[in-house]
Amino acid sequence: MTTRKRDYYEILAIGRNATPEDLKKAFRKQALKFHPDRNKDADAGDRFKEVNEAYQVLSDPQRKAQYDRFGHTGVNGQAGRGFDGFEGFGGFGDIFDSFFGGSTRQAPNRGADLEFRINVSFRDAAFGVPRELELTRMERCERCDGTRAEPGTDTVECRTCHGEGRVRRTQRTFFGQFQQVTSCPTCQGEGQTVKVACKKCSGRGIERKTRRIEVQIPAGVDNGTKLIVRGEGETGGRGGQSGDLYVHVGVERDKTFSRRGNDVIMTAEVNMVMAALGGVISVETLDGPRDIEIKPGTQSGAISRIKSAGIPRMGGSGRRGDQLVELKVVTPNKLSDRQAELLRELAESFGIDNVGPGAGSGQGIFNRFKDAFRGEDDSS
Ligand SMILES: [Zn+2]
Ligand SMILES: [Zn+2]
Repeated sequence: MTTRKRDYYEILAIGRNATPEDLKKAFRKQALKFHPDRNKDADAGDRFKEVNEAYQVLSDPQRKAQYDRFGHTGVNGQAGRGFDGFEGFGGFGDIFDSFFGGSTRQAPNRGADLEFRINVSFRDAAFGVPRELELTRMERCERCDGTRAEPGTDTVECRTCHGEGRVRRTQRTFFGQFQQVTSCPTCQGEGQTVKVACKKCSGRGIERKTRRIEVQIPAGVDNGTKLIVRGEGETGGRGGQSGDLYVHVGVERDKTFSRRGNDVIMTAEVNMVMAALGGVISVETLDGPRDIEIKPGTQSGAISRIKSAGIPRMGGSGRRGDQLVELKVVTPNKLSDRQAELLRELAESFGIDNVGPGAGSGQGIFNRFKDAFRGEDDSS
């Protein structure tokens, strides 16, 4: 190992203004030169790691920028995002896989993840609800318990791998030939094959099953929340873990409520007379109707807050957001003769004349009428 870290550009033998294309070429060239399968020098492995590290950093625009400004402390030290280090990779094979964009390794026998989308109502999202999902997935065959053999029959040593469960494969790449050890395709790594295949699963060890699974939708879920139910995906190969079930939650729109964070938002209408004089109205909440006080002189657009009537914090202490009621002052559009007369009297007391149909220009009356209720007294 070198004690002092060498300059990444020097390692790859390129200039600081090299294009990404040049960088790639230089990486291939240097990696080829130092790959331990081809270069038997004692320090080839270290040089190879060095080349890789340099490429990992310089091919990432953000890390490259940090390196250009701060040098090694920028990418390795406290000053910047730390370099994960070569050890983060599984070995040489992984680096080639990542460079060539395809993995030749056999994935571990973990089962596939499943995804499911469900919609819940606004209220169910607020308080949580158990939901039953029906899903079809691959499960371990019940008849052979995944052994693939018809119950009561023997297994024999696999002829492909001679019971080893693994086979060596030679792979030709840009860098030369590599040997890879993979799980035996004939016996799927078991080392054994069956004499008589299980009749139910035709020797596959797995079977398609439709299951109903109950999932608890937690209180406070929002539109787009993704829930993970561990182990409810498809079964893994023998010894492999089952996959997970991902439940994407969609929250339906509600005709009364909408949501902002954990607060519930709604609009309530207030008659202009009540807005002027004050009073009490009843509004819907998630917990049922609630009375709220309307203060005298309430303006349209005023917000009334009902503490803790909102949505519980998901996974939290059960503390809830608030409900915010936007008050909309409503002007009656039909008046009896008596009501019209009272309003005219009221207008007079405000010193407003020309009220009523046909008096002056429509626009002017409207504005003055409005002013009488919500105009200059705003500051009080
Ligand atoms: Zn079976
Ligand atoms: Zn085999």
